[in-house]
Amino acid sequence: MTPRVPIDPALVERCIFALAAFGASDGTGVRRAVYTPEWTAAQEMVVRWCEDAGLAVRWDAVGSVWGRLDGTAGGPAIVSGSHIDTQLPGGRYDGALGVIAAYVAITALKEQCGPPKRPLEVVSFCQEESSRFPRANFWASRAVVGRIEPDEAETMRGYADETMADVMRSVGLDPARIPDAARDDITTFIELHIEQGPLLEEAGLPVAVVNAITGLRGYTVAVHGRADHAGAFPMDLRRDPMVAAAEIILGVRENALAMDRPAVTTVGRIAAEPNFPAIVPERVIFSVDARHPDPAKRAELYEGHERLFRDVAARHNVEVIWQIRSDTPPCICDPETVRLLEAAAREQGIPAMTMQSGAGHDSQIMATCSKVAMLFIRSKDGRSHTPEEFTTIEDAVAGITVLASALHTLAY
Ligand SMILES: [Zn+2]
Repeated sequence: MTPRVPIDPALVERCIFALAAFGASDGTGVRRAVYTPEWTAAQEMVVRWCEDAGLAVRWDAVGSVWGRLDGTAGGPAIVSGSHIDTQLPGGRYDGALGVIAAYVAITALKEQCGPPKRPLEVVSFCQEESSRFPRANFWASRAVVGRIEPDEAETMRGYADETMADVMRSVGLDPARIPDAARDDITTFIELHIEQGPLLEEAGLPVAVVNAITGLRGYTVAVHGRADHAGAFPMDLRRDPMVAAAEIILGVRENALAMDRPAVTTVGRIAAEPNFPAIVPERVIFSVDARHPDPAKRAELYEGHERLFRDVAARHNVEVIWQIRSDTPPCICDPETVRLLEAAAREQGIPAMTMQSGAGHDSQIMATCSKVAMLFIRSKDGRSHTPEEFTTIEDAVAGITVLASALHTLAY
């Protein structure tokens, strides 16, 4: 049985409001893209918090902030944290709450339990959201696991056409030093994050333990038919790619529904050519985003979708050509760490469920260098990536209590 480490709700609230001030916009919104002045100010505040709490603080080569509490027995570090950047605009909780949780939990452990046996670290990752650079997703955690390509910073361009390398230099970071951010001395990474969906609210629970992060496949589907006159050409002779696309769009939805939660499939983008009201289109191109956290069921979902593409092509006498644009396997969290978090919730009397994450997180990258698991905290109305994002202090404290208890088991 781990001791209860009381978490101060007033401190959690102060931290949330203090971080939200950097890049505050649209009422309760936050606009804090990586390597901007508001981002620097937020990271500097995390540095001050950690320094004031007596942690050893350092910036890594990509601008992530690490606060370390040394362990008396040494060994690899147990790390908790999340990302400090936001969507444009995002809310006050996505990423930020995980940084605050790690800081609050580790400093509470330090004050109440003294020095740990194993080192504990807080991390505030520089960037996860890709809100300034469309292809920079998981920039900070990729640096930690050594998965940034040597020319990536120089060639990657942001929405404002600046290079990642130039932007890094503008805040005093040297892109040539990116490999220095790699770590091989982390044993466990636990990320607390808001749920960003409605399942905890639906279940009436404050906290979930995450046992897997979903796998994602993104298709680009092109349906080729034949452009014809919208009045002169009879219906029965047409090769209409729009109708075929509509059938695929409804069909992939049916496939995902038939597999039940947590299977999901989304068509979020579509374009018709030539895109005129009086012309049967020549071509319709659309995206299919399909996700499932279970490797076998994921394969089943994709097989179903691809069978549908072929069936519709044959039925409508059109050509359906699909490309796999991205393919990210699911991340299965470390079962032992999942059980530890479940036990911590039980022992602390905090009602919790176990679920999968439908969104991507730094944890899935960190899984290549350490054991990982996550905690989700209830999101009001399941809202996220919007200023409407909200989580109560009570729920945040419940999650941080579970985190602190688990970190105690691992480090003391
Ligand atoms: Zn996030």
